[in-house]
Amino acid sequence: MNQTVKELHKERMKLWNASIANHAKYIDTTNGLFKDEFIEYRPCPVCNTNDYLTLFSKEGGFYVKCFKCSMIYINPVFTDEALNDYYENNHPVQAQIVESSDSFYDNLYNKGLDSIEIAGSKGTILDVGCSSGVFLDLAKNRNWQTSGIELNVQEFNMARQKGHKVYNTLMENINFDSKFDAITLWDVFEHIKGGEFYLNMMKNLLTPSGVIFLQIPNSDALAARILKEKCNMFDGLEHVNLYGVNTIRQLAERCRLKVQDIQTVIPEIGVINNYLDYDDPYLGNADNKTDIYNLIDETMLNDQLLGYKLQVTLGEAK
Ligand SMILES: [Zn+2]
Repeated sequence: MNQTVKELHKERMKLWNASIANHAKYIDTTNGLFKDEFIEYRPCPVCNTNDYLTLFSKEGGFYVKCFKCSMIYINPVFTDEALNDYYENNHPVQAQIVESSDSFYDNLYNKGLDSIEIAGSKGTILDVGCSSGVFLDLAKNRNWQTSGIELNVQEFNMARQKGHKVYNTLMENINFDSKFDAITLWDVFEHIKGGEFYLNMMKNLLTPSGVIFLQIPNSDALAARILKEKCNMFDGLEHVNLYGVNTIRQLAERCRLKVQDIQTVIPEIGVINNYLDYDDPYLGNADNKTDIYNLIDETMLNDQLLGYKLQVTLGEAK
């Protein structure tokens, strides 16, 4: 793995460790699971049925797979109250990582903006969970009028000081003066329990040709399917809904949204190679671009939508 990617994994490990440390106060030490007072059972967030297979537990939480639609989700899940409490006491490590690893995120952000600009018209953009505003800086440079929502006060202040219009409250509490040509959620939608509710709310904030852009972990990713609970996609608490190609399409359809573009990014080939070599998947030394035993390479992997993250562009179904 090249130095930059490995450094990034080390940085991500800091974030991971900080998040897992925050799980501790919710865990019953006698069984290692979350205490009953913080959790509730729920139906499938995509098709609403209650039949599922329990896959594995991770850091106190259980991931299940819906028998009907194959959605992967946490069940039982934290109550809204417990989740709010958890995030209020969370840390701004993510902002530090994004701020300190410019080129990696810039490439992802630019690729996303390319998809958005092909699908719709350039104008006003709202970034939900904008953190310190790194993506908004880039959008502003590409002549978008930028707004953001950020709940973490430190990150909200950082983004506001950069000249973006930023709100420090939940989307449902905001009265926006105008509609948006694009609404983006970078690594945010998987944290939202009520995906359907939020997609519908965002749809109502769009201009007629406006688009919603999501970057989310891909539960169909080859790395996730090989590593299973060893994969960082599964954290047991924050990533409540893990969509794949079919389940994000189904959810979009339920909201009468059309998938205008769907791609995967971040092949994680190095991670898979490390794992198959009995090495630490994230801290081993394999190259992130070299073929997996000559079976599959970076291009092939993304062509088959097996990359670690999905980039999805949704527009109103006409
Ligand atoms: Zn389902």
